[in-house]
Amino acid sequence: MGLIVQKYGGSSVADAEGLKRVANRIVATKKAGHQVVVVVSAMGDTTDELIDLANQVSPMPHGRELDMLLTAGERISMALLAMAIGNLGHEAQSFTGSQAGVITDSSHGAARIIDVTPGRIQHALADGAIAIVAGFQGISQDTKDITTLGRGGSDTTAVALAAALEADVCEIYTDVDGVFTADPRVVPSARKLKTVTYEEMLELAASGAKVLHLRCVEYARRFDLPIHVRSSFSNNEGTWVVKDHPEGDTMEQAIIAGIAHDKSEAKITIVGVPDRTGTAARIFQAIADAQINIDMIVQNVSAAATGLTDISFTLPKAEGSKATEILTKIQGEVGFASLQYDDQIGKLSLVGAGMRSHPGITAQFFACLSEAGVNIEMISTSEIRISIVCRATDLEKGVRAAHTAFDLDSDQVEAVVYGGTGR
Ligand code: ADP
Ligand code: ASP
Ligand code: MG
Repeated sequence: MGLIVQKYGGSSVADAEGLKRVANRIVATKKAGHQVVVVVSAMGDTTDELIDLANQVSPMPHGRELDMLLTAGERISMALLAMAIGNLGHEAQSFTGSQAGVITDSSHGAARIIDVTPGRIQHALADGAIAIVAGFQGISQDTKDITTLGRGGSDTTAVALAAALEADVCEIYTDVDGVFTADPRVVPSARKLKTVTYEEMLELAASGAKVLHLRCVEYARRFDLPIHVRSSFSNNEGTWVVKDHPEGDTMEQAIIAGIAHDKSEAKITIVGVPDRTGTAARIFQAIADAQINIDMIVQNVSAAATGLTDISFTLPKAEGSKATEILTKIQGEVGFASLQYDDQIGKLSLVGAGMRSHPGITAQFFACLSEAGVNIEMISTSEIRISIVCRATDLEKGVRAAHTAFDLDSDQVEAVVYGGTGR
C-alpha cells in the first residue's frame, strides 16, 4: 500500500463522460489498496474561455480578479469529480488550493509555491476518503488573496503536494501516452520515451514542450520524486521522469532525447544602439524592472563607421506591448534609432544529454534545417540544448526535418493523440 498523487489535465475531464471515466480510474487505484490524492485541472478549454471572457470586459483585467475568475474553473471540475466518485460508492472530498495548504507568494498569474501545509488532505486520507484538490491555485501568504501558478500549473500543484505528502509517485495523466521525442500533434511518427531525465525534461519544458509544466520538473528534481507521465485514455505504460536513465538502457541513451517547439514568443530588435559600456545593462534593467522574462539575446558587432549596433531578444508574446512601451520611454536616454516588433517567429530546440560528448550535432542540425529551406534567425545553446529562431511558418517543417535527421522517427504508429484541442 502506498500513497499516490494523480493529476488529470483538462482534456481528461473535458465533459461528464470524461469525469466519469477518470472517477473509475481513481476508484480502481483506491481499490488496489492505495491512498489517493487527485489534482484536477479545469474542464477542457475552460481556462482559455474564461480568459477570453475577461478580455471582453476589460483589455487589461486586474491580476487579483483574473486569478479569482480562473480558479473557478478548477473548482467546477473538483466538485464534479468528487460527486462522480461518490456515485461509485466511494467517499471523496474536494478542496481548493487554499484549503489544501498551497501557500504562494503574491505574484498574480505567476505565483510561486513557498510552502505546502496539507493538514486537511492528511485528515481526509486518515478518514479513508479520496482527496481531490483544485490544481493551479494557491493563497498568498502576505495578502491572503487567491493566486494562480501560471498556465499549465496544475502539474506543479501535483508534484508539490506529492513532495509534501511524501508520496511514492506522482502520476500525470494527459491526452497522449507519455513524453515523446516531439509533440505528437506535429510529428505523428514521434517515439515515446521510456525514461527522460529531470535535466532533459527541464530543457524540453523550458523550450515549449507543454506536456509538463517547467516548475513541476524543477520541484520533482529538488525532491527526487519520480513522475510518471501517461494517458488517462489508455492503460499503456507512460514515461518516467527520473534522475538517470536506467543502466544498460541504450535506447534511452540516445544522443538526442527530443525536439521542442514554441510559438508563444516574439522578437524585439533595438536598432542603432550606441556601442557604449552600460547600454545593454540599462536596456535589460528596464525590462527586468517590469518583471519581463527574456529568452534569447543577440547583439551584432557594431559597424566601425557609425559605432552603432543592433540588439535583438525574444520574450513571451503576452509581454510584447509592455516591453515596447518601456523601451520607447528610455529611447531618448539610451539614444537608439528605432524598435522593431516581430511576433511571427518560432523557436525550435534540440535537447539531449548526449550532446555533451558528441561533437558535430550543431552542424548536422543546421544542415538539415538548410535542406528543409528553414532560415535561422537567432541561435542559443546550453550544455545539452541547441535552440534556433525561424519564421513561424517554417517551424513545423523544421521540427519534422530535425526529427528525421536525428533518426528519431518510429516505425510503428505510437503517437496517439486521444483528446484535447491543442489550444
Ligand atoms: P493537460 O491538459 O493534460 O495538462 P497539455 O495540453 O498541457 O495537457 O499537455 C499535453 C500536450 O502536450 C499533448 O497533447 C501534446 O500536444 C503536447 N506536447 C508537446 N510536446 C510534447 C512531447 N514532447 N511529448 C508529449 N506531448 C507533448
Ligand atoms: N487550467 C489551467 C490552465 O489551463 C491549469 C492547468 O491546466 O494545468 O492553464
Ligand atoms: Mg498541462
